[in-house]
Amino acid sequence: MKIQSIRGMKDVLPDETPIWQWLESRIRQVTQGYGYQEIRLPLLEPVALFERAVGEATDIVSKEMYNFIDKSGDHITLRPEGTSGCVRAVIENKLCYNATQRMWYQGPMFRYERPQKGRLRQFTQLGVETFGMAGAEVDAELILMSHDLFRSLGIISHLRLEINSLGTSSERSAHRAALIEYLTAHKDLLDEDSLIRLEKNPLRILDSKNPQMQAMLTDAPKLLEYLDEESKQHFEQVCRILDNVGIKYVINPRLVRGLDYYSRTVFEWITDALGSQGTVCGGGRYDGLVELFSGDSLPASGFAIGLERLILLLETLNIKHRIVLDGVIAITCENSNDNAQALIIANQIRHAFPQASVQNDFSGSKLKRQHNRALKSDANIIITLNGDGTIGIWNLKTDQRMTADAGRFLEQLKVTLAQ
Ligand code: ATP
Ligand code: MG
Repeated sequence: MKIQSIRGMKDVLPDETPIWQWLESRIRQVTQGYGYQEIRLPLLEPVALFERAVGEATDIVSKEMYNFIDKSGDHITLRPEGTSGCVRAVIENKLCYNATQRMWYQGPMFRYERPQKGRLRQFTQLGVETFGMAGAEVDAELILMSHDLFRSLGIISHLRLEINSLGTSSERSAHRAALIEYLTAHKDLLDEDSLIRLEKNPLRILDSKNPQMQAMLTDAPKLLEYLDEESKQHFEQVCRILDNVGIKYVINPRLVRGLDYYSRTVFEWITDALGSQGTVCGGGRYDGLVELFSGDSLPASGFAIGLERLILLLETLNIKHRIVLDGVIAITCENSNDNAQALIIANQIRHAFPQASVQNDFSGSKLKRQHNRALKSDANIIITLNGDGTIGIWNLKTDQRMTADAGRFLEQLKVTLAQ
C-alpha cells in the first residue's frame, strides 16, 4: 500500500522554506513595530467553542470542521480559525483584567474544503487580535499594520482594500428583515445555496459570486443605510483616518465576511492576480464575542492573513526575497580522511562569522565533483582542505582564489567575505 499525504495537506519542501522564513521574518518585524505580542495557542479545541463563536449557520461550522471524539468521549476539533481560541485564552487567563491586549499568532488551520489553487485543507494563518479597545483608531491601526506588511513584502500595489460596516446586532436585525423581504420577492433569481441561506444566514447571500444574481443583489437593501448615529460615526472615522494617512480603499456595501461574530468595521485585502481565491486578508471588529462566552463585555478587533495565498502571490509576481547572510560557504576536502578536520574548520568559521551559512561536503566524492556541487548551490565561497594541509579560499563572486595556512585562514576569509 502506498502511503500518501492527506488531500489538501501539503509538504513545504526545503526549496520552499526560504520564502516562508523570509515572510515570517517580515511578520515579526511588522508586529514588533506595532507593539503586538505573540501568543501560541493549541491546535485542538472543543467543538462547542466554534459552534458558538463562529456560528452554526456558517460554512465553517456546518461543513468544514475536522471533528472527532477522543478516548474520554470529548468532542474535539482541529481549529478552523484562530480568533475563537484566542478569545477563549483571553478569558481563561484573565488577560484583559484591567488591561488592553494586542496579540498575534501564526499557525495551521484546518477546514474540510474542496482543495484547489489557494485553497487547502491545512493552511496557515497569521492572526492579529486586539482586546479592550472600542474606538475606530484601533480598527485603522490594524488596517495600517496589514498595509505595512504588504508594503514590506513589495505587493501593496497588487492589492485592493475593501471596507464596510456590519453595524450592531440590532441594526443587523432591522436590515435582515428588509433583506429577507427583498430577497423573497426575487426568489426566482436565487440559486440553491442562496435559498438555503435565505432562512439561516441571508446576509451571506450578499457576497455570492454567482453572476446571474449580481444585478439583483446590487439593488438589495444596504446595511450601511441601517446604521445608527454611533455606528455611522465609527465607520466615518475609520475612513477619515485612512484618508489622512493616504491609504486607498473601496467601500463595498456587500462585504459581509463568512463568520457570524463580526460587528461594525469589516475589511478585506484582495488581489486580482490569483483568480477566484483572491482574498489574502480578512478582518474586522467583533465586539460581542467575548461577552458571548464570559458575560463581560470587551470590545475586540482583528484580522487574519492566509499565508499560502500570500506566497502564491509573491511567486506569481516573481518577487525576489532573500535573507541576507554574511556568506554561504561550502567546505570541501581533497582527502576524505580530512573530513573530521574540515568539520572543526567549519565550526571555527561559524563561531567567527555567526551570520554565515557553512556546509561540509562529506560525500567522499572526488574534489572536482565536490566543487561542481558547490558551484550549483547557493554558495559564494568554496573552502578546500588541500592534501598538503593548506586551505584554499575561492571567492565565487570575484573568482579569486588564494591559499592560506591553517593559522591565518580566518583573517583571509574575513577579507574575502568583505569583498
Ligand atoms: P474564502 O472566502 O476564500 O473561503 P474565508 O472568508 O473562509 O475565505 P477567513 O475565514 O476570513 O476566510 O480566513 C482568512 C483568510 O485565510 C482568507 O482570506 C484566506 O486568505 C485564508 N484562507 C481561508 N480558507 C483557506 C483555505 N481553505 N486555504 C487557504 N487559505 C485559506
Ligand atoms: Mg471559506
